[in-house]
Amino acid sequence: MSSKIVIEYSILFSSDYHIGTGLGISGIIDDILYRDSKGRLVIPGSTMKGIIRDACEDIADILGIKHCQGKLIKGKGLCFDKPCILCLIFGSPFTPSHFKFEDARRRDEFYKIMGILNKEIRYQEFLSRVEFHNSINEETGTAKEGFLYSYELGKKSEKFIGYIKEIIPIKNKDEALSLIIAGLRFISHIGGKRRRGKGRCEIKIEKINDGSIKVEDVLNKLKNFVNKE
Ligand SMILES: [Zn+2]
Repeated sequence: MSSKIVIEYSILFSSDYHIGTGLGISGIIDDILYRDSKGRLVIPGSTMKGIIRDACEDIADILGIKHCQGKLIKGKGLCFDKPCILCLIFGSPFTPSHFKFEDARRRDEFYKIMGILNKEIRYQEFLSRVEFHNSINEETGTAKEGFLYSYELGKKSEKFIGYIKEIIPIKNKDEALSLIIAGLRFISHIGGKRRRGKGRCEIKIEKINDGSIKVEDVLNKLKNFVNKE
């Protein structure tokens, strides 16, 4: 495998989801969803990177693939001169990330079909809604009377498409690719409010490179990297 890796994947939500910005509109809503410059909902690449990293760490632990904890915490460790596979893929303070995780977005065709690409206000209502909950008093765990917290939820509908691209050639290509693919397949939820049942999703690998690399072949290679020193 010599050409640079490009993974195309899709995210299909089976429940509404919340990937908040932490920003609100005063008096209207406390936490709105991420959007691009055209006002279209996107799932930030940084969000996907974090979720995929967590999933890859879980898989590495299950399989016994050695890796650091990615944090400068005493007793936890962070690779320095010999980066582990996770540091190579996702980067660390000492190692550049060898892959770029792009924002996941719905296809332009979706917006064209809806005929609403530049009519922001009209399509908001098709793609998102607002939910209210009582604010919880942190100390007592009870609802604060009269304080409603509102957040925007993306509605399940048309799938999002995301890309993961190799930006610095990585030596352990097969290992990195199989770990990322396994990680993607391991994800079942994205975003916050999971305890309220939000963000359930299915991730599908649409294509690796031009389709010349098959998902099953990639996953079959994963066992080659287990328990090595
Ligand atoms: Zn590491």
